[in-house]
Amino acid sequence: MNFSDHVENLKGVGPSTASKLNILGVKTVGDLITFYPRRFEDYSEVSKIKDIKPGNNVTIKGFVKQVNGRYVRRGMHITECLVSDETGSMRLVWFNQPYRAGALKPNQAYYVSGSFEMSRGRLSIMNPAMELESTFPINTARIVPVYRETKGLKSSAIRKAIASVAGVIEKVPEILPEAILLANNLVPRAEAVMTMHFPSSSKHLNAAKERLGFEELFTITLASLVNKQQFMRDSGVSIKFNESLAKQFSANLPYYLTNAQRKVVWQIYKDMASTTPMNRLVEGDVGSGKTVVAAMAAVMVMDNNYQAVFMAPTELLAFQHYETIKNLLKKTEFAGSVGLLTGSMKPAEKRRIHSEMKAGNIKFIVGTHALIADNVDMHKLGLVIIDEQHRFGVRQRKKLQAKAGHMPHVLSMTATPIPRSLALTIYGELDISVLDEMPPGRMPTITKIVSPNSRSRLYQDIELELKAGRQMFVVCPLIEESDKMTALSAEAVYENLSKKVFKQYKVGLLHGKMKPAEKDAIMETFVSAELNILVSTTVIEVGVDVPNATVMLVEGVERFGLAQLHQLRGRIGRGNHQGYCYLVMSDSKEPTRRLRALEQVNDGFKLAELDLEIRGPGAIYGTVQSGQLDLKIANLSDVHLISRARKSAADFIESKENLKNYPLLSKRVQKYRSITNLN
Ligand code: ADP
Ligand code: MG
Repeated sequence: MNFSDHVENLKGVGPSTASKLNILGVKTVGDLITFYPRRFEDYSEVSKIKDIKPGNNVTIKGFVKQVNGRYVRRGMHITECLVSDETGSMRLVWFNQPYRAGALKPNQAYYVSGSFEMSRGRLSIMNPAMELESTFPINTARIVPVYRETKGLKSSAIRKAIASVAGVIEKVPEILPEAILLANNLVPRAEAVMTMHFPSSSKHLNAAKERLGFEELFTITLASLVNKQQFMRDSGVSIKFNESLAKQFSANLPYYLTNAQRKVVWQIYKDMASTTPMNRLVEGDVGSGKTVVAAMAAVMVMDNNYQAVFMAPTELLAFQHYETIKNLLKKTEFAGSVGLLTGSMKPAEKRRIHSEMKAGNIKFIVGTHALIADNVDMHKLGLVIIDEQHRFGVRQRKKLQAKAGHMPHVLSMTATPIPRSLALTIYGELDISVLDEMPPGRMPTITKIVSPNSRSRLYQDIELELKAGRQMFVVCPLIEESDKMTALSAEAVYENLSKKVFKQYKVGLLHGKMKPAEKDAIMETFVSAELNILVSTTVIEVGVDVPNATVMLVEGVERFGLAQLHQLRGRIGRGNHQGYCYLVMSDSKEPTRRLRALEQVNDGFKLAELDLEIRGPGAIYGTVQSGQLDLKIANLSDVHLISRARKSAADFIESKENLKNYPLLSKRVQKYRSITNLN
């Protein structure tokens, strides 16, 4: 048997179990071995019957004295069993497991594990796991692993499958260098994997988790450090710092920069002055003022006779950024040097823009990322700014480098708050700046979860805002046509609001199936306040700026992630008026703790920490990019383990050891290199 063998071919694993394992993503023996438990139940302590007390996780060893199975009423079967040891006897009860009675043999020793509770007026062990006594029990009398299950596939079947490949687990090869194992006091890989499925004590289990978590963090960090090393070898252009220009620019702004903005801009100027290309990520909550930071970076680049590009994820955003930037630069010598490039432009217009860029008349071009990455031909390209876009990978970078003849500085900006522990691990190749301060005078948006029963009251509150001249966004979940809850679809909500609830107001509809030009037209009527209400799917998610919009109503709120909801509500309360965000549930169930957090917490980073705590890294990472960061064991709030793994990875790089000497490690690192790569 080998790692690549399919689970279908395992002895004792039938085709039905195998196909269900496939559903869980387990195709090969190798997958099965690394299908780690979600949690463990400690049934390791075997008690005498007279000593057991009511509660969970009770294990006894006893003989079957009597078994009796019967239907107590239609659809309700009970199996009762009397077991005894030398200190007494007790009752076991199973509900709706009629096969139990026939499977139990008299006069043989069994292990029984379960919880000791009151049932039908008597204390009994309820629905216990039970198996013949042996040296290696699987479902009882040990620390029992509990796996992710699927319909028709219980943990007990998975345990059985894994027990059948125990011999293969012993052959799991080491991947970490010996020196790193020693320095960090880590158990060998095979031993750790074995312990995950067959823990002999909680101490061993902890050592196994530590070893495997370390391995994950170490390899991910090593991957990003290798990436970073490679970026640093590229040569870039030095952008000289012109202090009077920077001072003049900020003096001409209609506001004072926040301290956070000052710090970040200063850091960017320092980065760009070096011939090592900048590779910096600026994280800043919605509204923290990232655009002006980008503009200040670009101004310095233009002053050095280089060009800058600004890539936005959508046409609408490209247009808004273009307007904002033109406005920010209007008092500078670069006022006439800003250009816009979007997909919906006429070919002749695009050609004109291209030639102006090539001639250097356009020094700062704003557009959608695909368009710019593919078509830009600027020999004096000094800076690439990427807004809310994470799939700008090595290939795109290399392409720009080839065209420019050097590696431009790269500045990424994101409002997706990534907790620091996660950022350090997966974006180790980037330098990170955080805009952790909001411009003064912002009133935090008031957020309320609303039960569908309170709709009429809610509409009354909203009407007050509309009467005062304010505008409202209504966001609806994306709904499949087969879905029964079509009442929440943007179309249905639009019908209801425009024809009934708010028929005296102007209501518009925006959805993903519209052409870009149609979308822009609708959006413009909302921006110019011709519309009072805009009903849409999440297409308005990022960046759009309508200061007069004070109300956001989100339908079917359970279908959205925390980060997404936070981004959405960032669309309102951008002006001088109080913002209100109403999160309407699709039924009258009690909202989860996660949703409740949105009412209390206005800080995107705190929400992200909370999501990390409640849902794990996958949840946050999923919103960050589509790649799969396969952290099975490592706990990203374990700061201590993270810092040990980072230090070991840095030491490994420092030691100049050749990664090729460790083929398995190298393979893993290569895989992570493409996943963690943002820029
Ligand atoms: P982000 O892109 O980070 O979400 P923006 O760059 O769109 O935020 O800025 C949000 C709003 O805040 C804009 O209207 C901008 O003019 C304003 N703004 C930016 N910096 C400041 C500041 N230091 N003081 C006051 N207003 C600011
Ligand atoms: Mg922005």
